Amino acid sequence: MKTYRIACIPGDGIGKEVVPAGETVLRALSDAGAGFRFEFSSFDWGGDYYRLHGVMMPDDGLDALRPMDAILFGSAGDPDIPDHVTLWGLRLKICQGFDQYANVRPTRILPGIDAPLKRCTPAQLDWVIVRENSEGEYSGVGGRVHQGHPIEVATDVSMMTRAGVERIMRFAFRLARERPRKQLTVVTKSNAQRHAMVMWDEIAVQVSGEFPDVKWDKELVDACTARMVNRPASLDTLVATNLHADILSDLAAALAGSLGIAPTGNIDPERRYPSMFEPIHGSAFDIMGKGLANPVGTFWSCVMLLDHLGEREAAARLMRAIESVTADASLHTRDLGGTAATAAVTEAVCRRLQS
Ligand code: NAD
Ligand code: MN
Repeated sequence: MKTYRIACIPGDGIGKEVVPAGETVLRALSDAGAGFRFEFSSFDWGGDYYRLHGVMMPDDGLDALRPMDAILFGSAGDPDIPDHVTLWGLRLKICQGFDQYANVRPTRILPGIDAPLKRCTPAQLDWVIVRENSEGEYSGVGGRVHQGHPIEVATDVSMMTRAGVERIMRFAFRLARERPRKQLTVVTKSNAQRHAMVMWDEIAVQVSGEFPDVKWDKELVDACTARMVNRPASLDTLVATNLHADILSDLAAALAGSLGIAPTGNIDPERRYPSMFEPIHGSAFDIMGKGLANPVGTFWSCVMLLDHLGEREAAARLMRAIESVTADASLHTRDLGGTAATAAVTEAVCRRLQS
């Protein structure tokens, strides 16, 4: 039987609760006759590892992940360690080390979820945000001089390369073409940022020539937030820079009902390295360790993981189980206005997979 090697990296905070829940659900799926099995390897990297070893993950950590078929990730972020240390030391180290340059973020209003847009039906909000995940505002280029002195200077330089923009545009047009509406919105800010974002726009025009069957338009990022709220049905697939898409996808998640539901995949489209799947939420310090975290974002990320492995049927089966659970308000966690615990939601999804 086909065996997939999956690396589980719970990381910090509620990552330690939702990633084991994801593992449980994937196990239930393979036990229910999916026709393949998983071999899980768990890595204890994150804040606790940092307190013991002074680093979030070992220097040769990527070597341990390289032979894996996929990675299931929780969150990097610890109340006692600065966020830029945890993020760069773990999650971005993996994203950049494995050149997972396309970050794919689907958003839908799942059955039974009370979304805040009252004039919007679930059919009118069905988006995929493609985030450039390897450069731009999060390149890590910059520095600080004269630290602590009155003449201190600090810079974060947004780096955009022609190769980097071309490959994410091509990925987004291709993804848009696979979806029923074949429609792409290129998010930009070329009115104010007149160098890199102008190149971004030019490359969008150039790449669009390869996809005559995709309808596409351009939207400034600030106007895009209003369009998401006022005209959600006018959007389908979106492509945006690292920072812009980071912000737009938290808004998208909130509009679809909760940050706890939203999934993402950090994809290496060329499949040179394992891709990494994770809920988009963070460590959620306010609820960590209490068993209250919504595991649905992680489960949906597992659906993306299965799709990426080519297990379309199993992915659809897990998505149906998730939707049948969200449809039942007694299985809603606190972020959805309910009282259900992580464990109850996990058990319910497993039960539906077995039946
Ligand atoms: P957060 O996503 O951790 O929490 C925001 C709010 O949403 C909190 O009130 C939290 O309780 C709630 N929430 C989030 N996920 C939930 C879930 N699954 N179920 C129920 N409620 C949920 O964002 P934050 O507070 O900005 O960040 C906390 C820490 O996480 C920081 O250290 C940050 O750097 C880190 N972080 C990491 C990642 C990542 O590794 N991918 C992403 C975002 C934030
Ligand atoms: Mn984010």
